[in-house]
Amino acid sequence: CGIIGIVGAEAVADRLVDGLRRMEYRGYDSAGVCTLHEGRLIRRRAEGKLANLVTELAANPAPGEVGIAHTRWATHGAPTAKNAHPHATEHVALVHNGIIENYKELRAELREAGRTLESDTDTEVVLQHISWLVEQGKSPQEAVADVLPRLRGAFALAIAFRDHPELLIGARRGSPLVVGYGEGETYIGSDALALAPLTQQISYLEEGDWVVVTREGATIYDAENTRVEREVRTSGASA
Ligand code: GLU
Repeated sequence: CGIIGIVGAEAVADRLVDGLRRMEYRGYDSAGVCTLHEGRLIRRRAEGKLANLVTELAANPAPGEVGIAHTRWATHGAPTAKNAHPHATEHVALVHNGIIENYKELRAELREAGRTLESDTDTEVVLQHISWLVEQGKSPQEAVADVLPRLRGAFALAIAFRDHPELLIGARRGSPLVVGYGEGETYIGSDALALAPLTQQISYLEEGDWVVVTREGATIYDAENTRVEREVRTSGASA
């Protein structure tokens, strides 16, 4: 029920968990983080309270300066560690808030192509379709631009790419997502409150927008893949 992503200049795991804590009021049943480190995606997930994820991270740290995190309110698939986000392949990791209404049709296509799914969620079809295109040589931007128009339903997404540690991609339709601008760091999150300790400089994505964030800033596209500018505002949310 909450999303946060950081393209950072220093370690992100603790800051990602902090952001999740600030969204606890929304309710959740499981949580997870995925960081990029030395050419690998490092994923930690736990059922139940954030404290369980913190324990997991203490035993198995997730180093890295780029990462995404999620609190889940299960809609499709039981609230287990296996169904917790981030969902990931070797190449791509993804978190999602919302519901993908046409997941059955998208899943059938994946199964026909011989791809194995590991969870019972609607979300994993989005991950697998994006990863499939990336594995075929598409760039993160191309893969996301191809898959977004195929999705029915509501979503906020944050996506990390193993071979592109310099960026994260976010997207929104029906669920909120904001971009936060820091000093040599850029953030995405479900709301300004989650990002409040990191920055007060916020852009609200509009319906259908998607965004590529790097340390230098953000490039925002609308649903037609046209580059757009979204006003940067100073949020009143307090850290
Ligand atoms: N529909 C997704 C799931 O059940 C996302 C739920 C959420 O918004 O947290 O995994």
